[in-house]
Amino acid sequence: KAKFVINFSAGPAKLPAAVLAHAQKEMLDHKDSGVSVMELSHRSSEFIKILHAAEEKLRHLLTIPDNYKVLFLQGGGTGQFSAVPLNLMQLKPGHSADYIITGSWSAKAAQEAEKYGTVNLVLPKPKKYTSIPDRSTWTLNPDASYFYYCANETIDGVEFQYIPETNGVPIVCDMSSNILTRHLDISKFGLIFAGAQKNIGPAGVTLVIIREDLIGFAMKVCPVIFDYKVQAGNNSLYNTPPTYGIYMMGLVFDWIEEVGGVHKMEENAIKKSGLVYELIDNSEGFYNCPLDLDCRSRMNIPIRIGFHGAHDVLEKKFSDESTSNGYLQLKGHRSVGGIRVSLYNAVTVEETEHLVEFMKGFMSRNR
Ligand code: PMP
Repeated sequence: KAKFVINFSAGPAKLPAAVLAHAQKEMLDHKDSGVSVMELSHRSSEFIKILHAAEEKLRHLLTIPDNYKVLFLQGGGTGQFSAVPLNLMQLKPGHSADYIITGSWSAKAAQEAEKYGTVNLVLPKPKKYTSIPDRSTWTLNPDASYFYYCANETIDGVEFQYIPETNGVPIVCDMSSNILTRHLDISKFGLIFAGAQKNIGPAGVTLVIIREDLIGFAMKVCPVIFDYKVQAGNNSLYNTPPTYGIYMMGLVFDWIEEVGGVHKMEENAIKKSGLVYELIDNSEGFYNCPLDLDCRSRMNIPIRIGFHGAHDVLEKKFSDESTSNGYLQLKGHRSVGGIRVSLYNAVTVEETEHLVEFMKGFMSRNR
């Protein structure tokens, strides 16, 4: 690369350089086939190999039990906001689902689900997304078809540090921004979904991991491409899947395996986020993170800069200076302002140290 940059984007986000280089090498001629992966039929034996390998690698990385299907779909996380209720709302006679709203994305998911059944909010919708109230305060419905939560709220920086206990109600989890960043017992979940564009590849593929006994309950109106039974029955090949994205995902899975697996990703995530939080906590209020300590995200850290009233000027200055120095995409989401540091798997510990040094310098120049 010609220019010094570190990409801290919230998504689509940085990909490992080794993965991009590998893809570049095979771009024009994939394994002596004479064509690019992009030009392969999704029914060709070459592509089927790519698809199977990606699934096997993911199963290995996450230790996915045999009674779970892995689907490679389209439509993004937002597609799953609809697909989940379309497929699972009718699992139990009450056609009701429990949602916990801890940030902007779970709020959107709950809003979409209301079209398809009764949505019970296990907590009153908060005004600000800065905490996860204690489990003892939640009102769970024992007859709910499923319980829904977002493991990591990409915009607000609220991350669950545990898997909620639901007394047997199937758990549906949006892991779009933290899948493959921590070790989790997959057997605790009914369904996990994740858009690829943060930790696992380019935008365009949506991963769904679903326990088999939850398949087959889709509503009559469920669009066929969102019907888990149809997709599972056809190994994600009912229609044309996002072939190149699946190939890239496979390369990312290889890379994770090579550098030490999910445990290594988790270790790095703790280190990287720890560096940034340490700076915030030692900045005497110059950098502020509004979140409760027990739900601070390891992936997305929203930060306000400066003391009362001075936010706007300093944040604009930070944004300009960081960008011109090569620290890219640190602007906070338009709905919360400030800055946001996203530390997905491809961002290295060294790159994070680099940013922290820059932030220290900015602080001492602007105190
Ligand atoms: N869930 C989470 C946690 C997200 O971060 C996002 C997007 N950033 C979505 C859902 C929506 O995903 P998409 O844009 O792929 O529809």
